[in-house]
Amino acid sequence: MAGRPGVTVDPALVRVAVADVRRRISEAGGDDSVVILAVTKGFGPDAIEAALAAGCSAIGENYAQELVAKRDAAAGAEVHFIGQLQTNKVRQVAGVVQVYETVDRERLAAEIAKRDPGAGVLVQVDTSGEPGKGGCPIGELDPLVEAIRSLDLDLRGLMTVGPTDGGPEAARAGFRAVRAAADRLGLSVVSMGMSDDLEVAVQEGSTEVRVGSALFGARPVRT
Ligand SMILES: *Cc1c(COP(=O)(O)O)cnc(C)c1O
Repeated sequence: MAGRPGVTVDPALVRVAVADVRRRISEAGGDDSVVILAVTKGFGPDAIEAALAAGCSAIGENYAQELVAKRDAAAGAEVHFIGQLQTNKVRQVAGVVQVYETVDRERLAAEIAKRDPGAGVLVQVDTSGEPGKGGCPIGELDPLVEAIRSLDLDLRGLMTVGPTDGGPEAARAGFRAVRAAADRLGLSVVSMGMSDDLEVAVQEGSTEVRVGSALFGARPVRT
């Protein structure tokens, strides 16, 4: 699955693309503290290497098996798991992942605490209401955060994925609500914004944008 033959990235182009994303963040009012999480799903280990060479220190992956296959390239990076995570897959990625961004239920949190004690976690909030994206409804956030705080985990913040349709502005209200919730709960990390809506996310207080296609081009079709 990893390193599909024929799909390679050009490290020089990735370097230019990282600078361009950095400029977009800055023009949206973000400073250098906004983390660019390089989302390498669908690409081979060379994408991870190119992102690291271009100065990104954090890598985002969506699929357990694909991540495990590319783990050597990610050594030395901070690996964030950003895909939907089944409880029975936690064991596979424990020790490879430093930050689990898609924790949206207590059972998953408990499994991570058991298999990967002390791991960094973000709670994913559902702001789009779209099926298949995961996330905890914002109205159920407080009890989940409270439960996670009693576990052996390093709860760092919140994460959300904007709606697929409607353009970047359609994401604004949800992003604003997630930032407000993070502030209210005393959480410092807010992971929101992707290639198409990162300006809106930064304007609404994102501390980490998750960027794939703007760095590496269109993803190879997942087969
Ligand atoms: C794939 C993915 C991204 C990156 O999306 P791009 O539009 O390619 O920037 C960000 N976040 C999550 C959760 C993803 O699955």
